[in-house]
Amino acid sequence: MDYNIYLCAMSQQDDLFKNIVSHCKEYGFIFPSSEIYDGLGAVYDYGPYGIELKKNIQDFWWKAMVQLHENIVGLDSAIFMHPTTWKASGHVDAFNDPLIDNKDSKKRYRADVLIEDVVEKYRQKNDKEVEKAQKRFGDAFDEAQFRATNPNILRNQAKMDEIETRFKAALEAGDMAEIKQIIVDLEIACPISGTRNWTEVRQFNLMFSTQLGSVADESSTIYLRPETAQGIFVNFLNVLNTSRQRIPFGIAQVGKAFRNEIVARQFIFRTREFEQMEMQFFVRPGEEMQWYNYWKDSRMKWHRALGFGADKLRFHDHLKTAHYANAAVDIEFDYPFGFKEMEGIHSRTDYDLTQHEKHSGKKLRYFDPEINEHYVPYVVETSVGLNRTFLAVLCNSYKEETLENGETRVVLSLPANLAPIKVAVLPLMKKDGLPEKAREIMDVLKYDHQLFYDEKDSIGKRYRRQDALGTPYCITIDHQTLEDNTVTIRDRDTMAQERVSIDTLEAIVGKKVGWKQLL
Ligand code: ATP
Repeated sequence: MDYNIYLCAMSQQDDLFKNIVSHCKEYGFIFPSSEIYDGLGAVYDYGPYGIELKKNIQDFWWKAMVQLHENIVGLDSAIFMHPTTWKASGHVDAFNDPLIDNKDSKKRYRADVLIEDVVEKYRQKNDKEVEKAQKRFGDAFDEAQFRATNPNILRNQAKMDEIETRFKAALEAGDMAEIKQIIVDLEIACPISGTRNWTEVRQFNLMFSTQLGSVADESSTIYLRPETAQGIFVNFLNVLNTSRQRIPFGIAQVGKAFRNEIVARQFIFRTREFEQMEMQFFVRPGEEMQWYNYWKDSRMKWHRALGFGADKLRFHDHLKTAHYANAAVDIEFDYPFGFKEMEGIHSRTDYDLTQHEKHSGKKLRYFDPEINEHYVPYVVETSVGLNRTFLAVLCNSYKEETLENGETRVVLSLPANLAPIKVAVLPLMKKDGLPEKAREIMDVLKYDHQLFYDEKDSIGKRYRRQDALGTPYCITIDHQTLEDNTVTIRDRDTMAQERVSIDTLEAIVGKKVGWKQLL
């Protein structure tokens, strides 16, 4: 198998991705961390526009999950937790990734990712076959039948199934030698050195540890949380007793998590410090699959509302569920480097609460008045990466356009509510009272919306800058404004300008960027 063909196919997308990464830096969305010291691997800072976009995505999640669900409440638990938490949750013993090194390039890889990339290559081959056939047959094309009968597709599918079955068995058995053998048999080469000179596969724990207090000994070792979920589980009783919730109900939290990822790359997709938006939904035992399906559906709708087309999203069932789950699925987004996980939905059973009962000696039960029974609730989790959603939103909205007059522009066609700046206020000239009039408009709109005032450069350049930031509306104040109290409002996507009265601006902008539409 030629791994290089796969890399070549990815290179066009690579260029697009590189442009998106440099756009982020140039326009103040994302900077490499501590850049003056040459940065720190896979750690990033969010600039003035990045933080606004990230905050808006987070708000959208919070509104969709907490504000619109009477039976979901919020929580903000600490990053540091009692060390026994991680013993109980299984992270001390089982939060491992299989790693493998190429002896020539000295590069380290996740063995599972190397194998999954090969499967993905076959999947892409099949998609290409379908695309070609679609063009050939036009309206008469029946995709399902084609996929079920075309020999090339069937051959590729058989390969995929074979690899996945073998890989799943190796994972379940914890058989690292077999995982190495799969890599050898698939003839996977290191993309850097091009050789197949691999080390053995080893397990590597992903938790960062540090010392609490001034004495460094074994007993003072604590961990930076690798997921926010455990903060929710240990607070289950506190929330239950104070929020007047009845099962089924959920607890939501947004916060930082830390994982010592073996290979952190692809910009903010995989970093060692990241943010999760998690919700744990507590249900009656036996009803978990019904809620699992409900949340699968509901979360997919949330992603669609972000403006992602159906072809950009897909479900991906886990080959091997984690030690705590009885069902698990990912929602994947089609990033420029392929379909990858953006959100995980897991049916976590009563594993976590039961484990915390065992290790703490405290009962974490619920009395269900409807069936007159005490039980440990089952849990369905939805866990989406804020940074990965941010990256998906950026990739989905970044466009390099050639206009009718031959000029080019880069535009971020973000959903209006998510845009870092909602309205740019632009006096056509820096004189004749136009800036003063612009300031009056700012004073009306600034309490409700993030604005941007700009009077420098030609109006064309100023529009381009706002397009690049994703600002949905530009209001321009010109000499006519002084005569009849009207301004032009320019739409980012169509670039059409409409003349409207200043008195109507608040209502127009409010309607266009209000949350209701998105929710
Ligand atoms: P992966 O398989 O990509 O390592 P995971 O299955 O370990 O991810 P989960 O434990 O299910 O991820 O975490 C839930 C979500 O948290 C993921 O869907 C992802 O959006 C986000 N996430 C996990 N690890 C990282 C990371 N290193 N950087 C950024 N986001 C992450």
